[in-house]
Amino acid sequence: MRLTPGGVHSNVRLAGARDFIQRAQGAWLYSVDGQDYVDYLLGQGPNFLGHAPGHVIDAVFRACKDGVIFGGQHELEVRAGELVLEALGWADLVRFSMTGTEAVQAALRLARAVTGRTKVVRFEGHYHGWLDNVLISERDGRWGPASRGQLASHLEDSIILPWNDAERLADVLERAGEQVAAVIMEPIMINAGVIEPRAGYLEEVRRLCDEHGIVLIFDEVIAGFRLGLGGATERYGVTPDLATYGKAIAGGFPVAALAGRADLMARFGTGEVNHSGTFNASVMAMAAVVASVGTLIDEPPYDRVAEHGTALMAGLREIGLARNLPLRVSGLPAAFHVSFGDVEVTDYRSLQQLDLARYERFVPVLVEHGLWVAGRGVWYVSAAHGPKELDAALTRFEKALTQWVSA
Ligand code: PMP
Repeated sequence: MRLTPGGVHSNVRLAGARDFIQRAQGAWLYSVDGQDYVDYLLGQGPNFLGHAPGHVIDAVFRACKDGVIFGGQHELEVRAGELVLEALGWADLVRFSMTGTEAVQAALRLARAVTGRTKVVRFEGHYHGWLDNVLISERDGRWGPASRGQLASHLEDSIILPWNDAERLADVLERAGEQVAAVIMEPIMINAGVIEPRAGYLEEVRRLCDEHGIVLIFDEVIAGFRLGLGGATERYGVTPDLATYGKAIAGGFPVAALAGRADLMARFGTGEVNHSGTFNASVMAMAAVVASVGTLIDEPPYDRVAEHGTALMAGLREIGLARNLPLRVSGLPAAFHVSFGDVEVTDYRSLQQLDLARYERFVPVLVEHGLWVAGRGVWYVSAAHGPKELDAALTRFEKALTQWVSA
C-alpha cells in the first residue's frame, strides 16, 4: 500500500480479501504464510493448463536464451500463427498483441476502416477492456463511463443494447444500420453471469450483420481455446468476421490475438490500418503460444475439464440444497457462475435479480477456507484440476458455507 495505489496493479484486484502468493503449481496456489488454495480464478483465466505448465515454461526459457525481442520476424511467430489458425478452423489471418484490450481496439479500428462507418453496437454486461471507448458501467439503469477521468465523448459512437434480444437489435439496425461499423459481443457472456446465447440468437445476429453490411466481432478473450479448440465460434456454429482471443492461448503468458477473414485482416498488411506494439509477438509470447496451443491440439484437455467442472457444479448444488439455500450454479463446466437466487437469467438485467451482493460477501469466507475464487461469481476450471482438487474444493466450500451461515 505504501508503494502502489490500493496495493494492486490492476483495479480488477481491488475487490475482496486476498493473500500474498509465493508460488503456484497445477491447480494450487501457496501463500507466503503457508496457506494453500485450490485455484478457480486461474489468474482471471489465463492458467487454463494449470499454473507453471512445465513444457510451456521450458519452451519459453529455451527460446528466450537466444534473444527476447528482435524488431524483426522470427520462426516462432510463423509456427504460432499456423497453430492458432489450425485450432480456430475458420479464420484466415492472425495478428498477435499483448492484451485482450489491444486486440479489441484493433478489431474496432479495422471494422471502422473497412466499412467507413463510426458506430459500434455492443451489449450490457459485456467487457471489452479498460480503455475509454469500451469501458462502461450501469448506474440506475443508465450505461456510461465506468471511471472518473474517462472521456464520455469516446462512448458517443457506442450503441449499448440488452443482449440475447434479436428483435431489439433488428429494430435498432433498421433505423441506424447504415452508420454501424461493428457489432461486438462475448458470444457467451462469461463476464456477467456466464450466460449462454439463446437458441438461434447468434444466427440472427449474423444474418442482421450481413443484411446491413456490418462487421461481426466475437470477443473470445475468455471463451477462446477454453470451451474447445474453436472456442464459442465452434460451440455455437456461428462464424464472426473478426474475433479476439487471449488468456487460455498462452499458458499464463501475456498474449492476445485478433483473427479474421483475409479480406478484412489484409488491411493491416497494406499499412492502411495501423496496428502496432513494441512487444507484439515477442519470443516469449510466441514460444508460449506454440507450446500451449500445441498441447491443446495434440492432447486436448477438454473432456477432463468438462468432467471436473460438471462434478464440481453438481457438488456445489448439492451442498446448497442440503442446507436449503438458494445456491445457484449455472453455465458451462469450463466456466460457470455461482450466486444466490432463483430466477431465469438471460441477460445482464435478469442477472441483477440474483442476490449477487450476498455471494460477494461470502467470497472472503471462501478465500479464508482455501478456495481462490473471483468476487463476481465466475469459476474457471483448468486442465490441472482432478479428483484431489474436487474433493478439496467441495470439502472447503461446505465448511465455509457452514461457518458463514452459522455466523
Ligand atoms: N475482452 C474480454 C471478453 C475479457 O474478458 C477481457 C479481460 N477480462 C478483455 C477483453 C481484456 O483483456 P485484457 O485484460 O487482457 O486487456
